[in-house]
Amino acid sequence: MSEIVLETRHLVRRFGAFLATNDVSLKVERGARHALIGPNGAGKTTLINLLTGVLPPSEGQVFLEGEDITSMASFRRVKRGLTRTFQINQLFNEFTPLETVALAIAEREGVGHNLWRSIAGCGKVVDEAAALLARFGLASVMGERTVILPYGKQRLLEIALAFASKPRVLLLDEPAAGVPEDERHEVLQIVSDLPADVTVLLIEHDMDLVFSFANRISVLVAGAVFVEGTVAEISTDPRVKAVYLGE
Ligand code: ADP
Repeated sequence: MSEIVLETRHLVRRFGAFLATNDVSLKVERGARHALIGPNGAGKTTLINLLTGVLPPSEGQVFLEGEDITSMASFRRVKRGLTRTFQINQLFNEFTPLETVALAIAEREGVGHNLWRSIAGCGKVVDEAAALLARFGLASVMGERTVILPYGKQRLLEIALAFASKPRVLLLDEPAAGVPEDERHEVLQIVSDLPADVTVLLIEHDMDLVFSFANRISVLVAGAVFVEGTVAEISTDPRVKAVYLGE
């Protein structure tokens, strides 16, 4: 039987009189590659902000693994396993990917600076960081300064950094945005190949990418879930085509 890992119930977010999120009840199954699509202004980013606690909802609730997290602070949600990708400007440009990810792992372990006093502890963290970077196709550049990496590699590093917190649910807001066309599928393929018990909720504008990545799609229009289904259902639904053509 499928298990719901992330759920919203009748979620509403108003900005003044404007309804950015309109009664969204969304269920994300454990291990899903779930995509959230919809035209510009549909409310995708607002919904992610409600899930991560960046914004409080006007009404409704958010549940993570059955627990009501509606009022929980963002950093506590991360500790519970709900992580979103960091924005590009949060990467340390002068650090290497290895240093960046090793610091994130040390932070996760809650040992921080003390860790670096122990050679054994330090070696363990660096080994884990190197293995994690290899998973994201960054092994060959892990010793370079981040600022000189190609943009696609920087975006992969952001996802690697989010993954270092050992998320059970990973929220990705257009992870391939700005990445050259021929590298976009690689970014999404790496995400798709993450362990099966890691759930991924993806916002993505590029339909080709969504259809090759997702096993479940929710289409948001004017703040509400307009239609939901499999790739086969959504890719052939004339109502979805109409929404995008009308953009
Ligand atoms: P999407 O990510 O699907 O493009 P957004 O969630 O960014 O959509 O925006 C949904 C709607 O909510 C848009 O009309 C946007 O102008 C409005 N909106 C988003 N954030 C705010 C805000 N802080 N104040 C007022 N309106 C906002």
